[in-house]
This record gives sequence, structure tokens and C-alpha cells, in this order.
Amino acid sequence: MKPLKTAWPVILACTLLLSSAPGQVRPARPAAAPSAPLALVRIPKTPALPLAALARLGLDVRQELGTCLLALADGDDQAMMRRSGVRFAVLDRAAAGRDYVLVETRRPGALASLRAAGRAVAVEAGTAVFWTDDGDAAAAVPAGLARKAWPACSVLPHLRSGPPAATPAAVAAAVQDPVIDAIVANISPSNLAARVQTLQDFGTRYASTTNCEAAGEALFAAFAGLGLDDVHFESFPFSSYTSRNVVAEKTGETFPDDVYIICSHYDSTSPSSTRLTDAPGADDNASGTAAVLEAARVLADVPLDYTVRFVAFSAEEWGLYGSRAYAAAARGAGEAIRGVLNLDMIGYADAAPEDLQVFVNQDSAWLADLFVAAGPRYGPVTAVKVVDPSIIYSDHSPFWDNGYAAFMAIEDYPLANPYYHRTTDTLATLDQAFFAACARASVGLLAELAQPIKAGHPRTPARLEADWDSYSSLFTTLAVVNLAWPAQADAAGYNVYRTSFPHLGYVKINGEPVTGTHFADNTAIPGGEYYYALTAVGPTGLESNRSRDNTWSVPPASPAAAPASALRGITPLLLRGIR
Ligand SMILES: [Zn+2]
Repeated sequence: MKPLKTAWPVILACTLLLSSAPGQVRPARPAAAPSAPLALVRIPKTPALPLAALARLGLDVRQELGTCLLALADGDDQAMMRRSGVRFAVLDRAAAGRDYVLVETRRPGALASLRAAGRAVAVEAGTAVFWTDDGDAAAAVPAGLARKAWPACSVLPHLRSGPPAATPAAVAAAVQDPVIDAIVANISPSNLAARVQTLQDFGTRYASTTNCEAAGEALFAAFAGLGLDDVHFESFPFSSYTSRNVVAEKTGETFPDDVYIICSHYDSTSPSSTRLTDAPGADDNASGTAAVLEAARVLADVPLDYTVRFVAFSAEEWGLYGSRAYAAAARGAGEAIRGVLNLDMIGYADAAPEDLQVFVNQDSAWLADLFVAAGPRYGPVTAVKVVDPSIIYSDHSPFWDNGYAAFMAIEDYPLANPYYHRTTDTLATLDQAFFAACARASVGLLAELAQPIKAGHPRTPARLEADWDSYSSLFTTLAVVNLAWPAQADAAGYNVYRTSFPHLGYVKINGEPVTGTHFADNTAIPGGEYYYALTAVGPTGLESNRSRDNTWSVPPASPAAAPASALRGITPLLLRGIR
């Protein structure tokens, strides 16, 4: 038996159906040949790769990269893939019980040093899978190489092709809030520097040391002093140790269950001879952690529609163990994490003007689009969007594995900081102006997402529902999306917004504010996918924030539809709004 196989309920259901079919004698089958043992396989990504078929069959895919999927497959799985025309290569024939580690191998000599420490197979340019025949493979990875512990569950349920890319015009118009200009103006460059210095002064924050745990306690105290709604530790095991993530929350007033996260890792590392005593980790990653603390400070007293969590992860350098535990627990609890802003190395500039690289997978591209818009406004800093699922060596990656939208913001990748993972990664090497601009841009984006509630404006509409009618004639099919919402005492009217891209590019589709509590959009195109949001307009014309945006997909015209009506959606089709 392989662990964590997801197909068994299907197999069980099929078995029950077969055995209960009345009057049917099942033919005796020859005893099945014992299935080949569990293997690690590489499946190249091709345009024709049948993701849906792989998902139906419950293939245990553990990692998506730019060029391939890495999966665990026994003999039955391999036979199924051959029958389905899925090409694959076996990388390790004895995968049962193995702890694999993904290792970044871009630097010259990286693969050779990895092969000297255990077994390593290059799976694409810059990435190898590493394992050892006994012991903790993550701990055996040579110092200085970025690594990711093998995800514990299949990521296949969360793989999707991603929504359409937003147009440049939609991105350009995406952020525009003067209230947020005032919030980011409160970010203090001297505070950022002081917070980096404080973290650096722990000597080392290498996870497994008491210094790292003391740094966690200092972060806890810093969050606790800000008057947030909740601050707590979350412990997790790694190797033969435990460490703690520090989690602080400011609960949203309109959508308390919908969460945006800004995060960083607070642990550090340096060469193996020094890391237990001397690993200042100023850029990597006191810089991101200082920005997360400043975010909490400037937002602590701002009422927000959405819940924001400020999270400092530990044991990132060991293989992303803190974020791996956190993201899996969030998925297990069904948490509606709408977006994750992971800041990792945002203080070093090797060129002027330095820009900020924002790495996303396809499904998270909208988050990077918003950062591209937020960077120049709130930094100012140029944010560059890069869609590349192979960039997995930081705390955003476990969120991707669990189907949450996330990005990593980093000054340069491949890395350009010559002090990276050395005892010379200190505050003195950081570019304070660039660092502060990155922090302001990140907090500006976070505030755009979480929506500050403005005094004197109507409340943010909390509910918006939709269904659709479709009318077919011989020549054409028309769709009408019917939007409805509860009346709100502080509203004199409502505006309805629509976009074809997730979370940005909204265009108002009504003329004068709507005075009732419903609106029919008869310009939707059958087969289209639309995001709608609602605002309330007060008696003096002040407008509320937008309601939570959800996707409604208008089904394509049915050829069987009778002329002049007949198709009606019973429930809204929620596709990508919240997962
Ligand atoms: Zn880092």
C-alpha cells in the first residue's frame, strides 16, 4: 500500500457497485501480479498532459516545476499512465518511506557537492531531487544550498491552468487609494534598520539553536506590544528538533474569515562551521521580518475589511519546515487564505535603481499584477512579475502546494547578494532607501487587499449573490447575470463592478447608483467568466469599499435550449473566489 493515495474512495465505490449489482456473476479474475514498488517519477509537462485524468486517478503528485511534475507511482499507477499516454521517467525505484529534498542547483558545483553528500538526480535546470539511504536527507544537504523538504501530500488537487492574464491597462488602474498613501507614509526607515539590528544581535538565528528560539520570543513580544487581536506561537517538528512560527492577527471587520498573510522567515544560516554561533542574516531574512513587523505596526490601528495575519516562519533554511506545517494545517482546517505576500531578502541592492522580483505560479499571477501596480505608487519601486513554478525555495511554495495564491518578493533571483548565507550578511550591507521602498510597496499592496474602512463612508457590502438566465433563439444566445444583495441602512444606492480578471480591472457597469437591491447584467457573454463586486453609495455620494469578489462563470449556450428562455442557474457557480 502506498501512503496518502487519494484514489481509494473511488476504487472502493467501484468495488461496492460491482459487488452489489443484482443478478450479475462476476467473472473470476486471475490473481493480480504484485504491483511494482513505489517509485519516484518525473512527468514532463506538455500542453497535452491530461491533468484532469491524473487527478481522477488520484496520482500522488508532490511537486510542480516549470517543466515537469514529480510524483510517487506504484506499478498500477505506471500502467495507468502508460495506458493514458502519459510519458514519465523513473528516477528512484525504491521510493517507499523516503524523505526526498528538492535542492536548488544553479550555482556552479552545486550538483557535484550534492552528489558527494548522497543521491541526487537533476530534474530540470537548477533543481535536483536529493535523498540519502538513511537519516535525515534535509540535514545532509550541503550548507549554502537552498532546499525544500518534500511536500507531505499530493498537490494534484490544486493544480490548475490559472485564470487569464490581466491586460496592462487593468493592472495600471488597479491601485489608487489615498488613505493607503497615508498608511505607508508611517513606515519608518529607522525602525526597519533597528529591527534588523535587533535580529542580527542574536548572533545566530539558525533553527535548532536557543538563539533562534529567543529571536522568536522577541518577535512575539514585538507583535504583542502592538495591540493586535491575537499573537501566538505555532510549534512544529523538523529533523530531531522543534521550532515555532510566530503568528499575529488583526481580525477583519467585514470578512473575518477571509485572510491575507504577509510573512517572512526569521531563522538564518551561514557556513556549517559558523552557523551555530554566527549567522547575522540581515538581508536573509531580517529584512523581510522587519517589514512584516512594520506592516503590523502601521496597520494595528487601521480598521480593515479582511483579516490580516503577520507571520514569521522558522526553519525555512532547513527546508521550509515552518511554512510547510502552517500551510498544510490551514488547508486541513479549510481556511480561506486569499493571498500570501512572502518577503525574503528585500534589503540588498546590487544595481541602481534596484527592482523587486515577484515570483508567482500561474494561479497566483494576479497577486504579482497587483504588486506591479502597487510598487511605483507606494514604494516607489519597480516590481517585476515572473511566473515560474520552479521558484520553490522560500515560504510561498508550501502555500502553492496547498492551493493558495502566494508570491515571493526578492531583490534578485538568481541571487546577487555576495553576503548571502555568510557571516557578512549584516545591516551595514543593506541599501536602506531600497529596503524602505520595498517595505512601503508591500504594505501598500497588503492594505489594498485588506481594504481600510473609511470613516463616514457606508459599510462594505458583505453579501452579493448571483444567478443567471440564458435565452437561446435560432440565431443567438443571450445571458443575463442577476445580482442581488441585502439592503443596507447607510446606503442611498449601490454601484456594480465587473471584471474578467481575478481581483483587478473592475469597471462600473451601472449608470446612476442602483436604488434597489438587485441588478441584471445583460452584457455577459455565454461561456465567459466574470468577477462582480458591489459598493454602497451613501447619501452624500461617498462610496464604500468593494464587496468580496467572487467569480461567476456563465455557462456556454446549450444547443438543447428551447427558444426564449429555459436555462436557469440554480446556484452561483463559485470558481475561483475563495478556496
Ligand atoms: Zn531566505
